[in-house]
Parts: sequence; C-alpha cells; structure tokens
Amino acid sequence: MHRRRLAKIVATVGPASASSAMLRRLAEAGVDCFRLNFSHGAHERHGEVVERVRAVEAELGRPIAILADLQGPKIRLGDIEGGELVVRFGDVLRLEASDGATTPGVLRLPHPEIVAAARAGDAILIDDGKLRLTVTETHGDHLVVRVDVGGALKPRKGATLIGAALPISALTEKDAIDLAFALEVGVDWVALSFVQRVEDLTEVRARIDGRAGLVAKIEKPSAIADMEAIVAASDAIMVARGDLGVELPAERVPIEQRRLIRVARTLGKPVIVATHMLESMVEAAAPTRAEASDVASAIYQGADAVMLSAESAVGRHPESAAAIMDRIIGAVEADPEHWSALWRPAIADPPQTADAVSLAAREIAQVLGCEGVVAYTRTGATAQRVSRERPPCPILVLTPDIRAARRLALVWGVEAAVAPDITTFDEMVGHAEGHALSQGLPIDARIVIIAGAPFGEPGKTNTIKISRLAGFS
Ligand code: PGA
Ligand code: MN
Repeated sequence: MHRRRLAKIVATVGPASASSAMLRRLAEAGVDCFRLNFSHGAHERHGEVVERVRAVEAELGRPIAILADLQGPKIRLGDIEGGELVVRFGDVLRLEASDGATTPGVLRLPHPEIVAAARAGDAILIDDGKLRLTVTETHGDHLVVRVDVGGALKPRKGATLIGAALPISALTEKDAIDLAFALEVGVDWVALSFVQRVEDLTEVRARIDGRAGLVAKIEKPSAIADMEAIVAASDAIMVARGDLGVELPAERVPIEQRRLIRVARTLGKPVIVATHMLESMVEAAAPTRAEASDVASAIYQGADAVMLSAESAVGRHPESAAAIMDRIIGAVEADPEHWSALWRPAIADPPQTADAVSLAAREIAQVLGCEGVVAYTRTGATAQRVSRERPPCPILVLTPDIRAARRLALVWGVEAAVAPDITTFDEMVGHAEGHALSQGLPIDARIVIIAGAPFGEPGKTNTIKISRLAGFS
C-alpha cells in the first residue's frame, strides 16, 4: 500500500522482536528493513527470522530488506558468570586473554591482541564507553586494570583499547562463516563493521559476488579520514554512532554524521544513521524530546534511513519505537523547509544518460506537482539515481527481480514492486498507470514514468513520459 513517508526505518531484531507476530507488527508500524546482528544469536535463530520476515513480506505484499550485520573485529567480552557482574569505582581486576566466563575479580576477553598491545596508563572503554578501566600493570599474559567508571558488565559487550591500532583484519574468521550463512539464507544487505580502509571492502565484496549490497559501517577514525573513498567503494554506509563515539570524542559525532551524510548523498549512496536514536525507549513508553529531535535532525540532514537498535532488539516497546520514528519522519517530510535543504547537486562521474533522466524526473515532479515517479529498473541502479535526486514524491519502482526490489527497501523514497519486463511503449505507460493507481495514487494525479528503450533489454534509462491517471487503463 502506498505510504507518504519517504525516509526508511531499519529495526534490529532481537529477543524482543524475533517472533512472527512482532515482526509483522513492526513491519505494519513502518519498518522497511530488519537488521540481524551477528554479534548476538545463533545461526539457527537468524535463519528463523529470515523465514519469518519473508512470510510477513508475502502477507503484506511489500518487499522488505534484510541486513546481516557482521560483528567485525570488535573486541568483545565473552560470557559473564551469572549473566551480569557489577564493578565499582576503584575496583582492581585481572584482565586475561581467554575464552572463559568473566567472574568476580577476573575479566576475561577472548582477544590476545588487546593484552599484547596495551600499555600502562591506556584506557579501555566497555559497552559503548559506559564503563571505563585504566591499565595499571602489564604482564605478558594478563593485565591489571582499575575501574574508573563502574557499572554492569554484560555478555558480549564491546571493549575498546583507546589509541592503539590493533593488527586485525576487518573480516574475522567468525565473520567469514557468518557471511557465508547470511548469503545462503538470502539476505539483501551485508554490513561490515570497523571498516578502516577501502581494501577491507574489496575483500568482502569479492566474497559477496553480487548476491547482496555492501554497507560500510563507519565507526573508526581511519574510516572518517578516508570517507570519500570508503563511501565510493561501498553500496551504502551506516553512521555507527555507538562505536564512533567511543573511538572519537562525543563532540565529533554530530559533525562527522553531517559530513558522512553529505558525502553519501553527493555520491548517491544510501546512508543509515544508527544507534541510540530512541535509546530511552528500551524502558520508557515515549522518547525524550532530545531523542525525537535527533531522529528529526538525521532526516533534515538527508539520511535515507534511521535505525532502531536495542529499542527493537531488547526493548520493552519495539512497536511504539517504530511507530514514533514513523511519525517523526512524517512530520519532518511535511515541513516545506525540509525540502529546500534537501536538494543538492550530486556527482556522477562520468555522467550517464540515466543521471540526466533521473534529475529531469525530479524537476518535472517538482514543477508539475507529480504524485509519483514510476521507474522501470532491472538492477535497481536507476531507482537509486532517482532517489539520489530526492523527488518530492514516492518513487514507484517496477523490477522483474525480487532481490533488487528487496534491496531497494532501504533506499530513500523507493516503493518497489515485482513486475514482468515491458515490451512496448504502450505497455510502459499502461503498466505504470495501473501500478500507480493500485498503490493508492488518486485519479487525476500526475506521474512521471522513466524507462530504458528498447524495452526488455538491460540498458540505459533514456525515456520520460508524463501521464495523468485516468480511472482505468
Ligand atoms: P554495533 O554497530 O551495534 O554492531 O556496534 C553500531 C554502532 O557501533 O553504532
Ligand atoms: Mn559498532
């Protein structure tokens, strides 16, 4: 069904949202893409979620994207004895590199690199910086650390050794196994954590081999330093503010968020703003004003998608969190000021016919007040080009490829549907008009239709038709 909202919502699936019923309610509340967090949960669970999302997709008749988020070389705690262990200011702990569970007095990290790289005086931040430790002694196989900021140690929370560049590759052994599994169950997007350089992406792209889109999670200072090249080498990016705010001072996060959105928009790559967006809703039934403002800001800045993390994975109100995001986005998109700030020149190098057609489609939509751009696309590339131009109306995409349709669920403004290839100009117009009506566009609405002729052959989008919807076609 046709919706007014154009920016997208990603929701992380976890114990609070993995049931068929909750996945369906989240999709109905407006979730466009479900994120499987491979830092948590067994393959079997993720596989079940994929099946359930596909069933929900069939019930609702709308393509839904699934994003597999690979843990990456994140240093994480292992198990915690009793599920949780509170440490207090001034406590002195032994930190060992081993696979065992953390017990009172002995913090165990299954990562020898961190013990090898640490020096006395270094800080170790845990759980997105909620807890802070200082290394006081180093001994070949273990460290002694002092708790500067206490709190609860929880299983598999991240740990960051500040300042040290650890000699680890972006795709760990676990990631390679998780990636093979994710591709086998047919996810639409794969996100790579802690990307530091373009080569990190090249390796994973080769393994993906066209089966999914590649999202670079930007959460390392070195990725910030090389953001143009990294955005160019990925299919989409995530502003992963949880770790970014640990690796960089907090005051840099809003500035880098804006820069990343600008670079992604200019290069025509979807950008997801993630982490802590409605964090208080893990417990509370309503967000804080500051959180509502944060979601709105990301939309004003031009993000393609905003993401729920713990709010939907383990929170008490996953469905309300999605519904509130939906309302915040809708409110910003109804603000005329949003639109004047949204249009920006994009770079296509070298510019293709399809770039010019996409730009023209947006301008026609703007000048004539069109209620939809209907785009025929095989791979989704044309849809992304139109999205990059941010037309003031939905982009109704028709593609013969369900995988392209699903992938596009993450992309700003796109509502994709699967339809057979067209073979004639009359069919191009007839099918587009019929589809627009079926999506709820009113009779007499104007639409812009774009496609590539000759029809039915992959090739460039080179044709524009402006139509007014009649009652039948
Ligand atoms: P994570 O990524 O939840 O996998 O750590 C998001 C972030 O760091 O913000
Ligand atoms: Mn992260």
